[in-house]
Amino acid sequence: MFDSVAFIGLGAMGYRMAAHLPAHIANVMVWNRTFEKAQQHAIEYGTQAVSLQDAVQADVIISCLPTSEDVQKLLDQIQPKAGSIWIDCTSGEPDQAKPIAARLAAHQVQYLDAPVSGQTIGAQNATLTFMVGGDHTTFLQAQPLLQHMGQLIQYVGESGAGFAVKAINNMLLAVNLCAVAEGFTTLKAHGVSLPDALKCINASSGKSMVTETVLPQRILNREFPLTFALPLLAKDTGIAMKLVHQAKLAAPVLAQTQMMIQAAHLTAQPDSDFSAAVKMYEQWSKITLE
Ligand code: NDP
Repeated sequence: MFDSVAFIGLGAMGYRMAAHLPAHIANVMVWNRTFEKAQQHAIEYGTQAVSLQDAVQADVIISCLPTSEDVQKLLDQIQPKAGSIWIDCTSGEPDQAKPIAARLAAHQVQYLDAPVSGQTIGAQNATLTFMVGGDHTTFLQAQPLLQHMGQLIQYVGESGAGFAVKAINNMLLAVNLCAVAEGFTTLKAHGVSLPDALKCINASSGKSMVTETVLPQRILNREFPLTFALPLLAKDTGIAMKLVHQAKLAAPVLAQTQMMIQAAHLTAQPDSDFSAAVKMYEQWSKITLE
């Protein structure tokens, strides 16, 4: 096991993920750009708020930032410890994984792309899914640590494969979200009670994570709690379409969904949750999903 672990990026996900580590690791360091969050984390969970330079001296560094570009910018500023492992839980760009791995390899640091799924509730309950790309031996070393934060820790292939699986996963979430918005506005236009329709669909073949949790817990109750920002979903659908284009495939449903999510993101209020993408359909149809 590792003596020291550092967590970089205490956002909606990272703050909760890092909270599980002190129960298992003697020295858990945290760093966040807005440093007060790291200090608050130390008070709440017994971690140590440290400078970025100190954080990258840990045996394992875990990052959870919005984009691969943010990770690259961070690498410009640091000298990580030789022999360490960098586990990047950012939902990043598959074609940036190898360049990042090469930059870190120059410091004798192994890099795994290890994005997560399961939302903030999964981060809080340590039930996340980790989809991991990179060197398999390094994955086996990192796996016990990731088990403190997740339920399924799955190796998916070479560097960048984790990011690719995550992008397609979130594209599928977006497809569902758009389809559910269209389907339920149609039902309401026909005078059907949405809670009654939802009960039927959640006991039928049309159900999905969107109908089971997003629609009842975020949309129909009009709460749209900000836990996964709409710009992050727009980023993920963009990454997925890049993968489609790189493979020279046609994916009309995914392409249409990416345009819908992009339009919803560009027209949404600042600080919108991903579920607020349905408001675009509501404006078009003049039908509110409640
Ligand atoms: P948040 O926006 O809540 O947090 C982002 C974190 O990154 C903050 O700690 C922020 O610091 C830090 N940060 C942003 N830009 C920089 C930078 N340039 N340099 C250093 N630190 C930076 O994001 P989430 O936690 O929601 O998401 C993190 C990643 O996880 C994303 O890639 C997202 O797509 C993915 N994800 C999110 C899920 C969710 O439900 N929220 C679920 C699964 C994956 P500061 O506090 O200073 O702003």
